[in-house]
Amino acid sequence: MDISDKGILLVLSGPAGSGKGTIVKNILERDNMIRLSVSATTRAPRPGEIDGVHYSFVSSQKFEEMIASDEMLEHTRYCGNYYGTPREHVNKMLESGISVILEIELEGAMNIRRLCPDAVLVLLLPPDFKTLENRLRGRHTNTEDDIKNRLERAKTEVSFFDKYDYVVINEDNMYEKAATTVLNILDSERHRTSRNKSIPTDFFG
Ligand code: 5GP
Repeated sequence: MDISDKGILLVLSGPAGSGKGTIVKNILERDNMIRLSVSATTRAPRPGEIDGVHYSFVSSQKFEEMIASDEMLEHTRYCGNYYGTPREHVNKMLESGISVILEIELEGAMNIRRLCPDAVLVLLLPPDFKTLENRLRGRHTNTEDDIKNRLERAKTEVSFFDKYDYVVINEDNMYEKAATTVLNILDSERHRTSRNKSIPTDFFG
């Protein structure tokens, strides 16, 4: 009799600049039973971003075709571009016992809550708004307009605080600690009684 080894769908959401990318990278390096869902987007690649690794970079036409053929588990428009989670990869991973992280924004997170009630929703936040602004400006890859948009959007995201199951604070230079907390959340979730419904029967052999 073992604790559930079924894959868990974990949504990691948080304002741009909260450090989701760094934390996910660290989690993936530490646990090979977890994968990141590679989203499709119509936004242009940033320097260093690789097609198929960071995102599938597609045209608006291709994205709209994917929506029409129901290939997207969820999708949204964010700061003028489409972003979405292709359904097939996520389902395959979960069925084979691998947990999947969706690194997605608020609207996507709320859609997943509705569509996948078993999913675990984690909100990642920097310690305060000023730190968020410093991080966004420090990236040097966003335009001033884009930074302003993203800061505005961050206010909305924080206002949905109580729709999430967990909150994790990502302090400057402490990303490993935040990643450990997310790993601990995943481990705790595996022990939920609702994910282990066969135990009472198995217990008596
Ligand atoms: P960025 O342009 O900075 O890579 O991403 C902008 C926002 O879109 C981030 O908050 C990111 O988490 C979110 N995002 C990335 N992929 C998806 C997706 O597939 N669906 C949704 N809803 N949001 C996404």
